[in-house]
Amino acid sequence: MTKEKIHICEVGPRDGLQMAAAIMPTRVKLDWISQMLAAGLPEVEAGSFVPAKLVPQMADTQEIISSLTQVYSSGISALAPNLKGAQLAYAAGAHAVIVPVSVSDGHSLANTRKSTFDQIAELEKIAAWIHEQDRPMRLDVGCATALGCSIEGVIPEKRVVQVAVALAQAGADIIVLSDTVGYGHPAQVRALIRAVRLEVGDKLQKLHLHDTMGLGLANALAGLEEGIRSFDASLAGLGGCPFAPGASGNIVTEDLVFMLHSMGFDTGIDLERLLSARQILSQTLPDERLHGNVFAAGIPKTYKAYSKVQEVVLDQSDRMRLAVHPP
Ligand code: ZN
Repeated sequence: MTKEKIHICEVGPRDGLQMAAAIMPTRVKLDWISQMLAAGLPEVEAGSFVPAKLVPQMADTQEIISSLTQVYSSGISALAPNLKGAQLAYAAGAHAVIVPVSVSDGHSLANTRKSTFDQIAELEKIAAWIHEQDRPMRLDVGCATALGCSIEGVIPEKRVVQVAVALAQAGADIIVLSDTVGYGHPAQVRALIRAVRLEVGDKLQKLHLHDTMGLGLANALAGLEEGIRSFDASLAGLGGCPFAPGASGNIVTEDLVFMLHSMGFDTGIDLERLLSARQILSQTLPDERLHGNVFAAGIPKTYKAYSKVQEVVLDQSDRMRLAVHPP
């Protein structure tokens, strides 16, 4: 039986490094990303086209994306908050661009200096421009702060659904529900996926989860059970959120891979090789806190990549014995 595929996008080089105190040199960054792609990751969000004076860690994004797309024919994506950034991503050969649209006006203004409404208008311009180009470039839209906001607090579910509908109408190829600050919980994830899917259908494809409260994998599991087959994650859980002091980074890629493989899903990733890509982080970013339970514990002997959990079926004699000798 073929294993069901799960798509994992590694966002450490963007979401993780943008919060790092030290700046990773371009050559090292390319080496790190190449190691992760060699471990089987199908997609890497390799940088963001934001002003270098605001996020100096991303100053080399043009060079990073251009270098990678000369070698790889798929799986290289970049974040762009506006049309100019999307045009730069296209020029660098990016295969996909991710545009953030915050559901919360407060976070949207802090992040992009535009209200949610104005950022949706920007998205319309980006979608129209991409569709005029010869080469296709996938347009992902991150529905940021969909599960809570450190500035505005609770985000009403209805507001998330309204924004998601507007994103679909504006031309998003893929809608991503993003728990930007990591305040969401599994029941909320479940309810929100159902509500958004009712309105935008299969355009809702992906979850972007942070592990601030330690619920990242529980939220991923809730998404998985609701049929989500695409996740963002970050090696060693690198990162945080500039608007949520104390927040940790994304869900840990290695731990997510371990959970999925143990459950019988196929990610195409070699867990051991993926773990060894952490070395570059500990060498070049010694001040960053690296997360990850699989790394701390080591891969257990019970772990079998791509194993399928066997269904237990009792036959009549098992039942008879249990009936005679109750446990
Ligand atoms: Zn994030």
